[in-house]
Amino acid sequence: MRVITKVSALQAQARRWKSEGHTVALVPTMGALHAGHLSLVRAARTRGKSPRVIVSVFVNPLQFGKGEDFARYPRTLGSDLAMLEGAGVDAVFHPSVDEMYPAGFDTHVHVGAVAMPLEGRARPGHFDGVATVVARLLGASIADRAYFGQKDAQQLAVIRRVVADLAIPVEIIGRPTVREADGLAMSSRNRYLEGEQRTHALALVRALAEAQSQYHEGIRDTRLLERAMRRVLATHPGITVEYARIVDPSTFEPPAIEGRGLALIAAQVGPARLIDNAALAATDVTRFRRVRRAVVAAAHGAAAQVAAG
Ligand code: AMP
Repeated sequence: MRVITKVSALQAQARRWKSEGHTVALVPTMGALHAGHLSLVRAARTRGKSPRVIVSVFVNPLQFGKGEDFARYPRTLGSDLAMLEGAGVDAVFHPSVDEMYPAGFDTHVHVGAVAMPLEGRARPGHFDGVATVVARLLGASIADRAYFGQKDAQQLAVIRRVVADLAIPVEIIGRPTVREADGLAMSSRNRYLEGEQRTHALALVRALAEAQSQYHEGIRDTRLLERAMRRVLATHPGITVEYARIVDPSTFEPPAIEGRGLALIAAQVGPARLIDNAALAATDVTRFRRVRRAVVAAAHGAAAQVAAG
């Protein structure tokens, strides 16, 4: 596995691979890798003609706002490299900030409507930072395919917009969210969670599961479904909800057309700002709702016992 730090060296390597008949796949990350990232690597290794896989590890300052966690974002290059070597990655691109944004760098990709609501509203400038770094990474890697997680659903939509609008010759592939056994969406920011915060963080997937489950019971009024999500979130103390919305998955605005609604949540849990989402018509997270019911039932049972005693 090669570790490359220069844009010119990455381009030269990708050109060499292409001239040898390989295709090139890119998996952009900010490091602090987990099984979610590795699922993207696995997908990249198993598609296309004789693929060569590049993983970029770069904490992109452009996509962090003032007061956000750029400085303390986990940087774990040693263990990231070991994981990527084990996963059969061909090259890791780990540039410095100066290499990505050298003196004179003065182009910023600004994305329109799809980047405005939800994360765009909560984190002004975030998606322009993402769009700019991804455009540069796609140019640096001349990748045929690039892999992104549905965990960051709006980001994926923003990147599809950029690639279509700038006619960048790359196929964008979205992959499902990888979860812990109890449902928590894997995230580098989960490392910030301590003690009970880890349990509180489960409220996100349980709220999504409640919306999915009520949708399958026939409820179609998005206000009712959003209220149901908020009710679940409210059962967990120590959470500040930023949004719990149901939108159309291409515009990220309401209304959600029958069968296409996407439920999205952003919440602050202790020091971690967490996001998660689920398609209403899917059933992938419904099982995590039962855990909440069991917990609530146990709590009620205990209360009933105390009352009876
Ligand atoms: P990040 O390092 O957080 O910027 O994420 C790099 C890529 O991994 C993005 O495309 C994310 O959407 C994706 N990703 C992050 N967490 C997960 C997850 N739990 N499952 C699948 N993909 C993920």
